[in-house]
Amino acid sequence: MPEMIYSSRFAAGETVFRMGDPGRNAYFIESGAVEVSVLRDGAEVVIAKLGVGEIFGEMSMIDDAPRSATVTATEDTEVIVIQRSRFLQPLKSANPMMNLLLRVVLARFRGAQNQLLGMRMKAGEIDTSLEEIRSLAFDRIHAERDMRRGLEAAEFEMHYQPIVALDGGHMGGFEALMRWRKADGSFISPGHFILLAEETGMIVELGRWALEVGLRDQLALARAFGKAFPGKPVPFMSINLSGMQLSELAEIDRLAAIIDKSGVDPAAVKLEITETLMVENPDHAADALKKLKELGVLIAIDDFGTGYSSLSYLHQFPLDTLKIDRVFVNNMDKSENSRRIVHSIVGLALALGMDIVAEGIEEKPQMEALKELGCQYGQGFHMSKPLPLDEALALIDAATVWS
Ligand code: C2E
Ligand code: CA
Ligand code: CA
Repeated sequence: MPEMIYSSRFAAGETVFRMGDPGRNAYFIESGAVEVSVLRDGAEVVIAKLGVGEIFGEMSMIDDAPRSATVTATEDTEVIVIQRSRFLQPLKSANPMMNLLLRVVLARFRGAQNQLLGMRMKAGEIDTSLEEIRSLAFDRIHAERDMRRGLEAAEFEMHYQPIVALDGGHMGGFEALMRWRKADGSFISPGHFILLAEETGMIVELGRWALEVGLRDQLALARAFGKAFPGKPVPFMSINLSGMQLSELAEIDRLAAIIDKSGVDPAAVKLEITETLMVENPDHAADALKKLKELGVLIAIDDFGTGYSSLSYLHQFPLDTLKIDRVFVNNMDKSENSRRIVHSIVGLALALGMDIVAEGIEEKPQMEALKELGCQYGQGFHMSKPLPLDEALALIDAATVWS
């Protein structure tokens, strides 16, 4: 495997790179000195002398344009070579806007430099990948603007997916899932917009809204349920929380105020969080979860088994429910291993006094197998898709049970 950072030596008078060469590396001077020169009116002109601790060649490394100058060692020089490949991945995954800004700054700098040196950019030398980066950044700005407008124009809706009590087959709860119905009628699923909402921080606002609407609708669902299923426990409302919503304790106070104002019994409110929170910052997670638990709500760990699945945190946090991810549930009938995993997750949760929701039940045999394993709740397309409030109410009014 080629090393990405290594040292290289140049003797006095030796050229490191020439103007026009492809630019793959940047160099950090460990010892010695170099001279940077450009061609002006056919003559070499030295534009800079650089010594220990200085860096050169970084522009071409970042924007992949040919070298705009020649660098020559003026004495025996040792440099650390920083290869472009090392920066490709972080550059690709960087926020497109940051990427664009970096490239624009570089392009302007090169333009200014060229002007200063009386050089003109040749056609074809213009960086084409800049256009790609520009369009990515614009897509993103537009998506952000659309989302902001969508929120203002009340284009977001909450849908509710029944969570079925496997023993008895009635509804034990609902999961509130966000939907974005654009003005043109197109429908965007959270798989497409939650990440953007998280990256832009808009999830904090959307999340408050989701909690508010989810709890308001919970009152209506619980009322209808009480009539259709007298004597059965009130169905809980499960609300998804993004880690970002819990990153500041002050935000938890705001969420607490929403729950308080809603009139819903906190014991019927379940907040779904993912493993990431607990694994990445366990100390903060402990404080945040403690604060949530003080409100009297239930906490569920979502998508269990897909992320870090570090078992050590399970008993350290006040968790009430474990949601088994649908990949295991879906493969139960096809793979002995998936069956074993589900079996052990169920055993683990029961041993820790948590209850279990199996997600993604698409077929009746899966539901039956899960019930047999001792899993209390199930959720999936086999029972019902997520529904708008009126359809969820209709399901209750029809006293629907799944057995
Ligand atoms: P999730 O929390 O794991 O939600 C369950 C997802 O599985 C939902 O997708 C649901 O429609 C889907 N699902 C339910 N049953 C089945 C099934 O039998 N088969 C299959 N293939 N899928 C099933 P959805 O609604 O597209 O949501 C995707 C993700 O977006 C959610 O995953 C959650 O992480 C996030 N999300 C949704 N609403 C919110 C929200 O209000 N706040 C936050 N922070 N995240 C949300
Ligand atoms: Ca969830
Ligand atoms: Ca899930």
